[in-house]
Amino acid sequence: MNFLDWLLPQHCYLCAKPSPSVVCLDCVKALPYQQVACPRCGRATRHPRLCTHCRREPPLFKHTHAVLRYLAPVDQLIHAAKYRHDFSVLAVLAEIMQQHFEQHPPQLPEVLMPVPLYPVRQWGRGYNQSHILAQKLAQHLNLPLDYRSCCRVKNTEQQARLRSREARHANVYEAFAYFPPYPAWQHVALIDDVFSTGSTLNEITRVLLAGGVKRVDIWCCARR
Ligand SMILES: [Zn+2]
Ligand SMILES: [Zn+2]
Repeated sequence: MNFLDWLLPQHCYLCAKPSPSVVCLDCVKALPYQQVACPRCGRATRHPRLCTHCRREPPLFKHTHAVLRYLAPVDQLIHAAKYRHDFSVLAVLAEIMQQHFEQHPPQLPEVLMPVPLYPVRQWGRGYNQSHILAQKLAQHLNLPLDYRSCCRVKNTEQQARLRSREARHANVYEAFAYFPPYPAWQHVALIDDVFSTGSTLNEITRVLLAGGVKRVDIWCCARR
């Protein structure tokens, strides 16, 4: 034990047992990982095939990799990473995503793009959690990161607060702008911390496709 450990003994954020990392290994192993899912939208399903939603009305993105399910205690970790400026928890989530992609190698896109926040919101929070996840994944997978070409041009309401599908769609409609770089990207993976209803991700995909991107995949830390 070094002096700092003695001075500031670290405990697991979830179980409070002494732990060298912010979430202990036992708690990381016990998290609700996404098992069988719809390949298109990442929704938990019984069989690894298109869910009824995607069969009825497929989203514009091609494939979703969801690492965790948005169940306790994942919601707690995401909340800490998002609203409580807990960068050590955010780093653990990034690490979990990296390990997932090592064990389940995805079809690699040309570039990773984080879901952008509205600038005022980002200044208020001080960071964009999806950007940090994307940055760490890009380094790990040796892929470029593009956080400039796509931006949020409308300060939207929180999607979770809106009840109807129409209201969520209207809320994010034309909320994003994409300025394609040259040469334009063909295959993009959008990085998000939480995939909730998919309306936001679908709208960003629409804007990217209109800007010449051929395929958009979603890589999210947790899926509702
Ligand atoms: Zn623990
Ligand atoms: Zn689906």
